[in-house]
Amino acid sequence: MELRRERLTAEMIDPGTGDPVRTLIEVRLDPLTGHSSRILPERGLMPASDFDLEAFARQTQPSCPFCPDRVDRLTPRLASRIHPGGRITRGAAILFPNLHAYSSHSAVSIYSPGLHYLPVGEITRELLADNLATQVAFARAVMAAEPQSAWASINANHMLPSGSSLFHPHMQGIVDSHPTTMQRLLADVPAQRFDDYLAAERRIGERYLGNTGRIQWLVSFAPIAPAELRAFAAGVCSPADLDDDLVSELAHGLALALGGYAEMGLSSFNCAMYGAPPGTEGYPLNLRLACRSNLKPLYRSDSTFLERLHWEGAVDYAPETVAEQLGGRFRG
Ligand SMILES: [Zn+2]
Repeated sequence: MELRRERLTAEMIDPGTGDPVRTLIEVRLDPLTGHSSRILPERGLMPASDFDLEAFARQTQPSCPFCPDRVDRLTPRLASRIHPGGRITRGAAILFPNLHAYSSHSAVSIYSPGLHYLPVGEITRELLADNLATQVAFARAVMAAEPQSAWASINANHMLPSGSSLFHPHMQGIVDSHPTTMQRLLADVPAQRFDDYLAAERRIGERYLGNTGRIQWLVSFAPIAPAELRAFAAGVCSPADLDDDLVSELAHGLALALGGYAEMGLSSFNCAMYGAPPGTEGYPLNLRLACRSNLKPLYRSDSTFLERLHWEGAVDYAPETVAEQLGGRFRG
């Protein structure tokens, strides 16, 4: 498989010197869905921030519905036909319905009632595994009760710039009879193309991060969002198919990646694990993980008219540089 890219040149006259200035922009096509992305020269679009997240956490805590003493009273319960206990727990993680539903089955799962403040670098493998396990159990419970809800995804908005309306860190699950646009596009990709893409990236090596066992990690060739990573698990199609070993392996990879984001000075991220209906022939369960702008007053959003309305990524983190920064964690 050829990974397609084309270089464009922008030319302008420097306002100070009057000399012509050239800028190179690379347009890349995603090998799976064909959407395009623009890799810009590094221009500091994602500055580190000295914003005091911990102080902001303290400020938001007194009214937080996910904190101890309130989570029991203020969060909804699952319908008994889905889960008789009303909530799904694993370790300290608790899953309950999203008060603001996005689908016929929307769930929120907190890492722990006690972790109102949980910076990216402190999200451990254990916390991730427990939280993911509640979402896996939720997807299975919904599918058992309602087989037409076969499209499951596990997602995260971590910190306000990512779209999170509540500070207290959590994941979100959607189980629905309708795929999202990206679920539909990915499920339509021929199985062979996933294999070809991964084989090409393994051969080229410059964006491939590693194989944690049954899951392969790489930096996106044509990212939708900054520092975007992808992971592919062969042999499973849906979050509902994940066994405990795969959940733990997935949590390990996510913890490595999030530790890398923290090292890069990034504190907010989105994650989407795109499930297809269980039994979809040749479909590998796969995810995107990407960082978002840091929280601070008057910050610049990383999502512009390009991403939101043109569906075109535009990032000034070269994927190869991100792979250099994160690769050692996966290989080490
Ligand atoms: Zn809280």
